[in-house]
Amino acid sequence: MFDIKKIYEPTCLQEALDIYQNNPQLKVIAGGTDVLINLRHGKYEEVELLSLQRVKGLDEIKMLDDGTIEIGALTTFTKIFRNDLINEHIPILAEAAVSMGGPQIRNIATIGGNICNGAVSADSAPALLTLNALLVLETAMGSRTVPLTEFYAGPGKVKLQPSEILTKILITKENYTNFKGKYIKFSNRKAMDIAMIGVAVLLNTTDNRVNDLRIALGVSAPTPIRCYEAEKVSIGLELTEDNLKTISEMTLLDAKPRDSWRGSKAYREHLIKVLTYRALRELRGDN
Ligand SMILES: Cc1cc2nc3c(=O)[nH]c(=O)nc-3n(C[C@H](O)[C@H](O)[C@H](O)COP(=O)(O)OP(=O)(O)OC[C@H]3O[C@@H](n4cnc5c(N)ncnc54)[C@H](O)[C@@H]3O)c2cc1C
Repeated sequence: MFDIKKIYEPTCLQEALDIYQNNPQLKVIAGGTDVLINLRHGKYEEVELLSLQRVKGLDEIKMLDDGTIEIGALTTFTKIFRNDLINEHIPILAEAAVSMGGPQIRNIATIGGNICNGAVSADSAPALLTLNALLVLETAMGSRTVPLTEFYAGPGKVKLQPSEILTKILITKENYTNFKGKYIKFSNRKAMDIAMIGVAVLLNTTDNRVNDLRIALGVSAPTPIRCYEAEKVSIGLELTEDNLKTISEMTLLDAKPRDSWRGSKAYREHLIKVLTYRALRELRGDN
């Protein structure tokens, strides 16, 4: 049923990096909720897997001395939405995590897998984009840190270098302090369904005026995106009804949704505007 030739199961990161360096043909598997589906669909033949499941220390969530929140790539969605640090400082990510799949999937699926599969519907992506998340990518030869905004290469494609493993996601203090956030997932079913549209909004205001607004969308372009045009226009604006409508309309300057069996382009455009508006109203304190 699963055409697996070999599986490596290292127990520490260095071992995993060394194995991958010497065997760049390996397919990394974390929770396996995407990889095993692909295997079952015959996408890989005689695959050799590098499992990260037993690697210790990659599933921790902690706050560093400078206030940066560090999330291990192997952290499951259940752990994320139940974590105190996440709920206190970046609840938008908890909201995204709990909207994902169903309990069984959330218990095994990892945030690293959600990022590295490059899916436009990845529920963690819009929230992480608004938080200006940074990715720590490691090989046996060294590590690099890249913004999530620069990681996507196209539908289902990310800019992982050969033998590179995503080890951590970082959210720096200035990207969550004094912000309120909202993630809205719109899907045909309440659970076990991927998003037709995902909208994340992160807002920092003083006296009802925008200091900083970030809007990110899932399933609205070939990759998850930020709506920079709407964000730019919003700076300094008062959160009046008219301004909320203008900002919501302007998201369509960056969005490029397409028709699919889940929903038409026109319906998706409507949802992007309405859900952005709804998120902004909620963050303004309307309900
Ligand atoms: C029934 C079902 C429902 C689902 N519902 C949702 C949903 O509502 N929302 C949603 O966003 N997704 C959903 N998914 C998709 C999937 O569960 C997620 O994308 C999940 O986060 C993938 O994580 P994983 O650990 O299982 O990844 P895996 O399947 O192990 O890996 C996914 C990809 O990432 C790579 N990879 C994984 N970890 C790393 C790493 N640390 N470094 C480098 N590469 C890595 C793998 O090689 C693979 O290409 C669903 C899947 C199923 C089966």
